[in-house]
Amino acid sequence: SNILFMCNSCGNEFVKWSGQCPACHEWNTLVEVGNFTKLSKAKSRSARPAIYSVTPREAIKNDSGKSFNTNIVELDRVLGTGLTPGGVYLIAGQPGIGKSTLLTQLAITLNTPLLYICSEENVGQVATRINRLTTKDTRHINLLNTSSTEDILKATNSLKPELVIVDSIQSIATEGNPTTAGSPSQIRDCASLLIQTAKESNIPMIIVGHVTKEGTIAGPKLLEHMVDTVLDLTGDRQHELRLLRGIKNRFGPTDETGIFRMTNGGLEEIADPSKFLLEGRLKSTPGSVLALVMEGTRPMTAEIQALVVESAIPVPRRIAKGINSNRLQLICAILTKHLKLPLGTKDVFVNITGGLTVNEPGVDLAIALAIISSVKDKALPDSSICFGELGLLGEIRSVSFQEKRLKEAKKLGYKHIYNPSTHPHLKKIIKNK
Ligand SMILES: [Zn+2]
Repeated sequence: SNILFMCNSCGNEFVKWSGQCPACHEWNTLVEVGNFTKLSKAKSRSARPAIYSVTPREAIKNDSGKSFNTNIVELDRVLGTGLTPGGVYLIAGQPGIGKSTLLTQLAITLNTPLLYICSEENVGQVATRINRLTTKDTRHINLLNTSSTEDILKATNSLKPELVIVDSIQSIATEGNPTTAGSPSQIRDCASLLIQTAKESNIPMIIVGHVTKEGTIAGPKLLEHMVDTVLDLTGDRQHELRLLRGIKNRFGPTDETGIFRMTNGGLEEIADPSKFLLEGRLKSTPGSVLALVMEGTRPMTAEIQALVVESAIPVPRRIAKGINSNRLQLICAILTKHLKLPLGTKDVFVNITGGLTVNEPGVDLAIALAIISSVKDKALPDSSICFGELGLLGEIRSVSFQEKRLKEAKKLGYKHIYNPSTHPHLKKIIKNK
């Protein structure tokens, strides 16, 4: 048969459909794309002459200009080296999370000729956003509303801007591919054309890619392998907090996080995330525990809240917000076994305030202490903070950046710092209480 399937995750093509991708082993990522991708590939291959000449290293060095900072501190922190000529950057995130806002702010701040492709919005909508964000002169921003990749390439080559922003990859298409915009093969073909132009013209390009919570829209995963740098903008739409994480970075570090808050005036940089996260906190309240967590290489203070109540249903609930729910199950089991905490008939709710999500094990101890505190209806001593991973035996294990966390806790003036070196086992903390 002629039907071809393509994996949303790795971009490999298959003649047969299967539930799990044979190449990257992801589940439910194979999508029917038809047999035209092969044709369009063959066409573009024959159209392009082979190049056999080798460019001397010196020439490459002189040709590629210098990296430049974006002037947005939190963005530069994640990029490490600023924007590199010819570099292709993907900004991924859920629709409406603030990708376009961030890039519009970048376009305003850069104050250098650039091309902003708005394929989802018309020029008027983007202009309105620009005017909402600044009163400055923004004539350096060239807006182009098109869904044609060929138009984007033409505009790039004739305008020769310092930067091209494509918002978004899901809404553009190339003539060589008959599928609709947003299909995996379309995304792959458009991205390779953009990347090729970026490399040839030495102009950096930022590509916006939407993902859903389930990661079901084709694109960002497929693109990760093709672009130089992948930044992920995350956040909870009900909260102001936005985190920009580096996932892949050919030019700099991948463990940095930029921290912003979404306001009416756009994304505002947060210099002191701990202060922001603890706004409005009730002190000395049972069920509330402070944790020193790491976001990239930055230590910050987060409030973990737990609420433990008698359950009205046969199988009590374990509901987590901001932490992995499997992790919560496990911590409840550890507390039941090693501290004989009566959680078997109780609902346990755990939440990190401020809309923060923490995926590192250093938050375990805080979750455990918050649950204990709620069960016993007893607050932790004033001026206390904690960090540590919980082992299955109730032991408190050391975590990454331990020294850095300890230093930060002392700097912030906390008197009681529960951590793996002072409290190697949960039982030790409870005895002391
Ligand atoms: Zn795959």
